[in-house]
Amino acid sequence: MPLFSPIAAAALAIVIFAVDTLTPFDIAIAVLYVAVVLLLLNCVDRRSLLLIGAGCMGLTLLSFLISHGTSFQPGPVARCLVSLAAIGISTLLAAKVKSAMSVLGESERRYRHIFRAAGVAILEMDFAAVGAAIAAGKAAGDKDIAAARAADPGLARRMLGAMRLINANDTSLKMFSAASVPKLGAALPGLVPREMEEGLWSMLATLWEHGVAHEAESVMDTLDGRRLTVLVTIAVPADRPDLGQVLVTIMDITARRETEDALHHAQAELAHVTRVATLGEMTASIAHEINQPLAAIVTNGEAGLRWLDRPVPELQEGRASLRSMVDDARRAATVVQRLRSLAAKSVPQHAPFALDELIGETAALMRRELDRHQVRLILGLETGLPPALGDRVQIQQVLINLMVNACQAMDQVEDRARDLVIGCSVVDGALEMMVADSGPGFDPETASRLFNAFFTTKANGMGMGLSICRSILEAHGGRIRASATPGAGATFTVSLPLHKEPSR
Ligand code: ADP
Repeated sequence: MPLFSPIAAAALAIVIFAVDTLTPFDIAIAVLYVAVVLLLLNCVDRRSLLLIGAGCMGLTLLSFLISHGTSFQPGPVARCLVSLAAIGISTLLAAKVKSAMSVLGESERRYRHIFRAAGVAILEMDFAAVGAAIAAGKAAGDKDIAAARAADPGLARRMLGAMRLINANDTSLKMFSAASVPKLGAALPGLVPREMEEGLWSMLATLWEHGVAHEAESVMDTLDGRRLTVLVTIAVPADRPDLGQVLVTIMDITARRETEDALHHAQAELAHVTRVATLGEMTASIAHEINQPLAAIVTNGEAGLRWLDRPVPELQEGRASLRSMVDDARRAATVVQRLRSLAAKSVPQHAPFALDELIGETAALMRRELDRHQVRLILGLETGLPPALGDRVQIQQVLINLMVNACQAMDQVEDRARDLVIGCSVVDGALEMMVADSGPGFDPETASRLFNAFFTTKANGMGMGLSICRSILEAHGGRIRASATPGAGATFTVSLPLHKEPSR
C-alpha cells in the first residue's frame, strides 16, 4: 500500500488545518502536524521531508492569521509558537533519521550485492542444534570431541542433518545445480560423502573448542551427480556463540586441484622422462657412433672368412682380419662407455647441501604420486646430520628414481601395507640414504643385473634408471647398492661423501 501514507497524511493535514482554523479550541492542535511528517517518513526523500515540515509550519501560521488576525494575544501566540517548535524539531529529527536510514540501506544493498554476486558460494546457516549437542556432550562429562565421538560415533552424521540452511547466494545454487534455496537446504546433508566424515569431526572439534573459524579442503557432490573439490570455511560471528547464525563459504577448487595433480604427476614422472630423454640422446649417438665400428667388424669378418675359405686358408690374413675385428669391437665398447658417462650429464655442480632437507622436499614433491599408488611414506631422518657434498639436483633425481621404482614395485602388493621408508644417517664417515619398500623385492640373479643399462622387468621399462643412478653416484665418489628379501621388499642404499670444512 505505497499510496496509503501520502493520502492519509494529506487527509490528516486538511483535517488539522480545518480544525485549527475554524474551531475556537484553546489547545495547540497544530502540534498534530508532527504526525503528518512522521507518516511521510518512509515515502519521501530527505529534502521533500524538510519541505513538508516547512509547509506544515506555513499552514500553522496561516491558520493563526485566519483565526486571530494580527491581534497577537499571548495565549494563541504561545500555542502557535509551541506548535511551530514541535513541528520544526520533529522535522529535523525525522530528516536525520532519514539520512541514517539511507546510509544503512546503502550498506545493506551493498552487502546483498556482494552476497549475491560473489564468486564463492555463501551459505547462511543455523548450527544451533550443533551448539546444543556440544553443550549436552560437555554436560554429560565428555572432555573433548574425541570422547563425544567414542560415546556416540554417529554424532557427526546426525549433526550434518541438523544444520539448517537459512539463505544461500546464487553462486551456491549454480555450484550445486540446485533450483532454489529450500531444495539446496534439503539436499545438503546428502552432498557430503561418507569419506568426508573425518572432516566433519575436525569441524566439530573446532566448534567444541569455541573456535570462531574453520577451514578445510573437502569433496562435495552436486545435485546433478558431479563431485567437486572444495575449500570450505566456517565463520561463527562473535556475537552469536550459540551458533544460530554461521556463515559458510564454499569455493570450488576442482579445476585448480586437477591442474595441480597433473603438475605433481608430471613432476613425479620427470625422472622417467629424463630417462627417456637421456635414452633418446644416447640412442641417436649410439646409432651414429657405433655404426662405424660395427660396419668395420662386418667388413673385416667377411674378409677374414674369405681368407679362411680359400682352398689353402690364408691364416696370416685371417688373423689380421680377426685382430681388426677385435680393435673395432673395442672401439665400439669405448664409445658405449663414453655414452654411459654422458648419462651422468654435464659436470656435476658439487656443493654442500642438507640431505634431510632434500629428502623432505622430494617427499613433498612426490606426495600425490605416493597417494596415487596408495603408498605410505615413513621418514626416519636423523637430526643434526653434517652436510653432504654433491650436485643437489642430480641426487634428487636419484631419489625420485628410487621412489618411483618402489611405488611401481609395490603396485602389485595387495596383502600388506605399501610402506616406503626413507632414512638417512652417517655410517663409516659417509652419509647414507636408505630407500626401502615392502614390494616383491628381487631374486639374487636379478640383483646382479639391476644396475646394468637396459635391464628391465617392466613391460614399458627402459632399464636405464638404476644405471643412471649408479653413474651419477660414481661421479660423486659415492655408491649405490641394493638388497632384498624376495617377497617382502627391496632396499636401496646410497652413500655420499660428507662435506668437509676446509681447514684453516
Ligand atoms: P626401469 O624402471 O625402467 O625398469 P630401472 O633401471 O630403474 O629401470 O630398474 C631396473 C629393474 O630393477 C626394474 O625393471 C625392476 O625389475 C628392478 N627394480 C628396481 N627397483 C626395484 C624395487 N624397488 N623392487 C623390485 N625391483 C626393482
